[in-house]
Amino acid sequence: MKTAYIALGSNLGDRAKNLRTARERMETRELHVARVSSVYETEPRGFTEQPWFLNQVVEVETSLMPRQLLGRLLKIEREMGRRRDVPNGPRLIDLDILLYGDLTVDAAGLQVPHPRMTERRFVLEPLAELAPDLRHPGSRHTVREMLAAVRDQTLRGAEKQV
Ligand code: ADP
Ligand code: MG
Repeated sequence: MKTAYIALGSNLGDRAKNLRTARERMETRELHVARVSSVYETEPRGFTEQPWFLNQVVEVETSLMPRQLLGRLLKIEREMGRRRDVPNGPRLIDLDILLYGDLTVDAAGLQVPHPRMTERRFVLEPLAELAPDLRHPGSRHTVREMLAAVRDQTLRGAEKQV
Protein backbone atom coordinates (compact mmCIF):
# COMPACT_ATOMS: atom_id res chain seq x y z
CA MET A 1 0.00 0.00 0.00
CA LYS A 2 1.15 3.51 -0.84
CA THR A 3 0.07 6.78 0.70
CA ALA A 4 -1.12 9.45 -1.72
CA TYR A 5 -2.74 12.86 -1.41
CA ILE A 6 -5.65 13.94 -3.56
CA ALA A 7 -7.10 17.44 -3.95
CA LEU A 8 -10.86 17.79 -4.37
CA GLY A 9 -12.57 20.91 -5.70
CA SER A 10 -16.13 21.88 -6.64
CA ASN A 11 -17.84 25.14 -7.55
CA LEU A 12 -21.14 24.03 -9.09
CA GLY A 13 -24.34 22.67 -7.57
CA ASP A 14 -24.29 21.38 -4.00
CA ARG A 15 -20.55 21.75 -3.54
CA ALA A 16 -20.26 20.04 -0.14
CA LYS A 17 -22.31 17.11 -1.40
CA ASN A 18 -20.10 16.81 -4.48
CA LEU A 19 -17.00 16.51 -2.28
CA ARG A 20 -18.75 13.91 -0.13
CA THR A 21 -19.94 11.90 -3.13
CA ALA A 22 -16.45 11.88 -4.64
CA ARG A 23 -14.93 10.70 -1.34
CA GLU A 24 -17.51 7.92 -1.08
CA ARG A 25 -16.93 6.79 -4.66
CA MET A 26 -13.19 6.54 -4.08
CA GLU A 27 -13.68 3.81 -1.45
CA THR A 28 -12.90 0.41 -2.93
CA ARG A 29 -10.74 -2.53 -2.03
CA GLU A 30 -7.76 -0.86 -3.73
CA LEU A 31 -8.34 2.68 -2.49
CA HIS A 32 -9.13 3.82 1.01
CA VAL A 33 -9.65 7.39 2.22
CA ALA A 34 -7.70 7.38 5.47
CA ARG A 35 -7.82 11.05 6.56
CA VAL A 36 -9.57 14.22 5.41
CA SER A 37 -8.69 17.89 5.82
CA SER A 38 -11.14 20.64 6.63
CA VAL A 39 -13.14 22.07 3.75
CA TYR A 40 -12.08 25.56 2.56
CA GLU A 41 -14.01 28.08 0.53
CA THR A 42 -11.72 29.69 -2.01
CA GLU A 43 -11.74 32.40 -4.62
CA PRO A 44 -11.58 31.22 -8.26
CA ARG A 45 -8.28 31.83 -10.04
CA GLY A 46 -7.67 32.25 -13.77
CA PHE A 47 -11.21 32.52 -15.04
CA THR A 48 -12.59 34.62 -12.16
CA GLU A 49 -16.22 35.20 -13.24
CA GLN A 50 -17.45 32.01 -11.60
CA PRO A 51 -18.64 30.86 -8.18
CA TRP A 52 -16.24 30.31 -5.29
CA PHE A 53 -14.89 26.81 -4.78
CA LEU A 54 -14.95 24.38 -1.93
CA ASN A 55 -11.59 22.66 -1.64
CA GLN A 56 -10.34 19.77 0.43
CA VAL A 57 -7.38 17.37 0.51
CA VAL A 58 -7.61 13.71 1.44
CA GLU A 59 -4.95 11.18 2.35
CA VAL A 60 -5.50 7.82 0.73
CA GLU A 61 -3.98 4.37 1.08
CA THR A 62 -3.88 2.61 -2.25
CA SER A 63 -2.58 -0.44 -4.05
CA LEU A 64 -3.28 1.25 -7.41
CA MET A 65 -0.33 2.46 -9.45
CA PRO A 66 -0.37 6.21 -10.25
CA ARG A 67 -1.92 5.81 -13.70
CA GLN A 68 -4.58 3.47 -12.40
CA LEU A 69 -5.32 5.91 -9.61
CA LEU A 70 -5.70 8.75 -12.14
CA GLY A 71 -7.98 6.53 -14.23
CA ARG A 72 -10.15 5.90 -11.21
CA LEU A 73 -10.37 9.60 -10.38
CA LEU A 74 -11.20 10.63 -13.95
CA LYS A 75 -13.92 7.96 -14.03
CA ILE A 76 -15.46 9.40 -10.86
CA GLU A 77 -15.37 12.89 -12.44
CA ARG A 78 -17.10 11.58 -15.55
CA GLU A 79 -19.71 9.59 -13.64
CA MET A 80 -20.52 12.64 -11.56
CA GLY A 81 -21.27 14.49 -14.78
CA ARG A 82 -18.28 16.74 -15.17
CA ARG A 83 -17.98 18.39 -18.56
CA ARG A 84 -14.89 20.15 -19.78
CA ASP A 85 -16.07 23.28 -21.58
CA VAL A 86 -14.07 26.25 -20.33
CA PRO A 87 -10.46 25.62 -19.29
CA ASN A 88 -10.15 26.52 -15.61
CA GLY A 89 -13.93 27.09 -15.71
CA PRO A 90 -16.64 25.96 -13.31
CA ARG A 91 -16.67 22.30 -12.40
CA LEU A 92 -18.86 19.90 -10.44
CA ILE A 93 -15.82 18.04 -9.28
CA ASP A 94 -12.08 18.17 -9.89
CA LEU A 95 -9.85 15.43 -8.53
CA ASP A 96 -6.08 15.89 -8.74
CA ILE A 97 -3.27 13.67 -7.56
CA LEU A 98 -0.93 15.91 -5.55
CA LEU A 99 1.61 13.42 -4.28
CA TYR A 100 2.04 9.66 -4.56
CA GLY A 101 4.51 8.38 -1.97
CA ASP A 102 7.90 9.81 -2.85
CA LEU A 103 7.41 9.12 -6.54
CA THR A 104 7.90 11.48 -9.48
CA VAL A 105 5.90 10.89 -12.68
CA ASP A 106 6.40 13.09 -15.73
CA ALA A 107 4.26 11.81 -18.59
CA ALA A 108 1.96 13.60 -21.03
CA GLY A 109 -1.24 12.67 -19.20
CA LEU A 110 0.08 12.57 -15.65
CA GLN A 111 2.46 14.66 -13.66
CA VAL A 112 3.17 13.90 -10.01
CA PRO A 113 3.78 15.85 -7.85
CA HIS A 114 1.03 18.04 -9.31
CA PRO A 115 3.01 20.85 -11.02
CA ARG A 116 0.84 23.69 -9.71
CA MET A 117 0.46 22.54 -6.11
CA THR A 118 3.39 24.66 -4.90
CA GLU A 119 1.66 27.91 -5.86
CA ARG A 120 -1.84 27.10 -4.55
CA ARG A 121 -2.78 28.05 -1.04
CA PHE A 122 -6.07 26.18 -1.41
CA VAL A 123 -4.03 22.99 -1.83
CA LEU A 124 -1.18 23.65 0.61
CA GLU A 125 -3.34 24.87 3.49
CA PRO A 126 -5.46 21.68 3.71
CA LEU A 127 -2.43 19.50 2.92
CA ALA A 128 -0.54 21.13 5.80
CA GLU A 129 -3.32 20.05 8.16
CA LEU A 130 -2.66 16.44 7.25
CA ALA A 131 1.07 16.32 6.57
CA PRO A 132 3.02 19.52 7.39
CA ASP A 133 6.40 17.76 7.42
CA LEU A 134 5.94 15.85 4.19
CA ARG A 135 8.58 16.76 1.59
CA HIS A 136 8.13 17.55 -2.09
CA PRO A 137 10.11 14.80 -3.90
CA GLY A 138 11.68 17.37 -6.24
CA SER A 139 12.56 20.41 -4.15
CA ARG A 140 12.66 18.53 -0.80
CA HIS A 141 10.82 21.47 0.77
CA THR A 142 8.25 20.57 3.39
CA VAL A 143 4.56 21.37 2.94
CA ARG A 144 4.90 23.88 5.77
CA GLU A 145 7.75 25.63 3.93
CA MET A 146 5.86 25.67 0.63
CA LEU A 147 2.82 27.15 2.36
CA ALA A 148 4.93 29.89 3.95
CA ALA A 149 6.28 30.82 0.50
CA VAL A 150 2.92 31.15 -1.26
CA ARG A 151 1.67 34.63 -2.12
CA ASP A 152 -1.61 35.97 -0.78
CA GLN A 153 -4.73 34.23 -1.95
CA THR A 154 -8.12 34.47 -0.36
CA LEU A 155 -9.38 31.50 1.61
CA ARG A 156 -12.42 31.60 3.80
CA GLY A 157 -12.57 29.85 7.15
CA ALA A 158 -12.16 26.15 7.41
CA GLU A 159 -15.09 23.97 8.29
CA LYS A 160 -14.37 20.45 9.43
CA GLN A 161 -16.58 17.99 7.59
CA VAL A 162 -16.23 14.25 7.85
P1 ADP B 1 -7.02 21.06 -13.85
O1 ADP B 1 -7.21 20.02 -12.79
O2 ADP B 1 -5.59 21.36 -14.14
O3 ADP B 1 -7.82 22.29 -13.62
P2 ADP B 1 -8.36 19.21 -15.58
O4 ADP B 1 -8.89 18.52 -14.36
O5 ADP B 1 -9.34 19.52 -16.66
O6 ADP B 1 -7.62 20.52 -15.21
O7 ADP B 1 -7.16 18.42 -16.20
C1 ADP B 1 -7.31 17.12 -16.34
C2 ADP B 1 -6.12 16.44 -16.98
O8 ADP B 1 -4.90 16.72 -16.31
C3 ADP B 1 -6.36 14.97 -16.80
O9 ADP B 1 -7.01 14.47 -17.92
C4 ADP B 1 -5.00 14.39 -16.56
O10 ADP B 1 -4.58 13.63 -17.66
C5 ADP B 1 -4.09 15.56 -16.42
N1 ADP B 1 -3.23 15.45 -15.24
C6 ADP B 1 -1.87 15.55 -15.24
N2 ADP B 1 -1.36 15.39 -14.02
C7 ADP B 1 -2.40 15.19 -13.18
C8 ADP B 1 -2.51 14.96 -11.78
N3 ADP B 1 -1.42 14.91 -10.99
N4 ADP B 1 -3.75 14.79 -11.26
C9 ADP B 1 -4.85 14.84 -12.05
N5 ADP B 1 -4.82 15.05 -13.39
C10 ADP B 1 -3.61 15.23 -13.96
MG1 MG C 1 -8.00 18.11 -12.51
